[in-house]
Amino acid sequence: MYKTHSCGELRSEHAGQMVELAGWVHRQRDHGGVTFIDLRDRYGIVQVVADPARPEVGAIQEARAEWVLKIAGIVRRRPAGAENPNMATGQIEIEATSVQVLNQARPLPFLVNKDEDTDEALRLKYRYLDLRRERMQNNMILRHHVVKFIRDYLSERGFLEIETPMLFKTTPEGARDYLVPSRLQPGMFYALPQSPQQLKQLLMVSGFDRYFQIARCLRDEDLRGDRQPEFTQLDLEMSFVERDDVLQLVEGLFTKMVKDILPQKRLLASPWPCLTYAEAVERYGSDKPDLRFGMELYGLNEIFAHTDFMVFQNVIKSGGVIKCIVAPGCAEYTRKEVDDLTTFAREQGAKGLATLALAADGVKGTAQKFIKPEDVSAIQARTGAKTGDLVLFIADSKAVANKTLSALRLLFRDRLGLADPDVLAFAWVVDFPMFEYNAEDQKWDAAHHPFTMPKMEDLPKFETDPAQILSDAYDMVLNGYETASGSIRIHRSDIQQKVFQLLGLKDEEIQSKFGHMIEAFQFGAPPHGGMAPGIDRLLMIFAGEPNIREVIAFPKNQAGRDLMADAPSPASERQLNELQIKLDLKKAEEPK
Ligand code: ASP
Repeated sequence: MYKTHSCGELRSEHAGQMVELAGWVHRQRDHGGVTFIDLRDRYGIVQVVADPARPEVGAIQEARAEWVLKIAGIVRRRPAGAENPNMATGQIEIEATSVQVLNQARPLPFLVNKDEDTDEALRLKYRYLDLRRERMQNNMILRHHVVKFIRDYLSERGFLEIETPMLFKTTPEGARDYLVPSRLQPGMFYALPQSPQQLKQLLMVSGFDRYFQIARCLRDEDLRGDRQPEFTQLDLEMSFVERDDVLQLVEGLFTKMVKDILPQKRLLASPWPCLTYAEAVERYGSDKPDLRFGMELYGLNEIFAHTDFMVFQNVIKSGGVIKCIVAPGCAEYTRKEVDDLTTFAREQGAKGLATLALAADGVKGTAQKFIKPEDVSAIQARTGAKTGDLVLFIADSKAVANKTLSALRLLFRDRLGLADPDVLAFAWVVDFPMFEYNAEDQKWDAAHHPFTMPKMEDLPKFETDPAQILSDAYDMVLNGYETASGSIRIHRSDIQQKVFQLLGLKDEEIQSKFGHMIEAFQFGAPPHGGMAPGIDRLLMIFAGEPNIREVIAFPKNQAGRDLMADAPSPASERQLNELQIKLDLKKAEEPK
């Protein structure tokens, strides 16, 4: 071993001990002929002092930032007044008796001893250096603790961790597949799993009634801050359970996790709130509401049932809605501020935005002259809006009104600081619709995935009104993010067949894509269900990071590239020949 202790563990009780340390030069300075070095490893930082005039420690003078040193020395208490209360090891320092340079370092492309703003592309190109930074080290350590907690918690409750293949077949999670060409069967392709969905259900057929996996999922979709082409889920599945059994298990896991490893965070509520999909969308305009603050949406169709305001009248007549939110203390917004909000509302798809400012000197706003005083009072009674507040109305189709007001609600959350960053507002959203109509392709899509169990009482609606079929699907939401989806599954092959048919799959297609599932369900499939919390997204929220890249050791950039290894990259002629693949790039580059 190069060392007897880590840089972070020495305290005043070690004073007088001879120790050996190894690490990186974090910082270095000279003071009156004496060299001070902060030596760093992943456990912390310790101050080393050496008089370079002494030959056995002379090497310390050459050392530069990020050189790798081995130091032997004596731990001593720092002189009175020289202690550093901001450092865990700040009571002591090491008086070096020998200094050995284990390796030198070229000047780095950016400083790692500071969390200063560094160009994102540079950080990703030199990710292994970026990961030396304290913030990134803490994120990786937190990640380890979260994953270990999950493994321990579930193992103690009888779950088995079982790996499933990466080379598999298409899984319908709604994204595009990554394909891998087969050399042994030219012209054939594996699909990388978008999730282990089918495999975990097949494990239930095998009798492994409590399964989990820290599973890598691969989805070829456009990237956003909270998406990566490969990401990690806690994938789990249980047999002989109903919805609430799965929810309770997962709620128990995260409740204890927060208590044990995130002591600086507070749960908004325990037990967690549970909203139906319809309720969430009605009250917050979103199926992943941030419950850390109120500012709910209110439907006002009743109040405006007899309005003379043509715009509102027309919307009501054509089956639309008038809904509002109340921005606290914003009655004095300037014309320009209201115009900016209107532009924002239009970007969300709304035709416009109407406002009512309950200013101290009277009611103002763009809708003031169209709304009768008794309607203003009715709105106040309904929404609780008071003097000083700004009421924002959207009159549009239900979907547009909800989407726009939900976005405005989040805009005000950030602008007015309405959500406490230390609060974790976990909640359940249940009873999702089973199908969504895809107007572009004129067909029905599964809202979750096609293995989700429709509500039994809704089975007759397959023939009459698919839009009204609810399912036993549920989401775990946290602070405005969807952090897990799951469902009770179909375990009867007749119902599975019905769902595939409604999705427009032809018999041959059902057979070629999912024949193995349909067949498996004929050999005694138990009732089962599960879910899959997204580990990266949860960590992003736990660590207070703005982006999931910050909690993944080696992420891709927005264009799906690994800038460090420069991937993807061309395949050699020989590799392509072996796969019997000919590139036709010109065609691929033509606009669609
Ligand atoms: N496979 C699903 C997903 O990735 C989760 C589940 O239903 O368990 O969203």
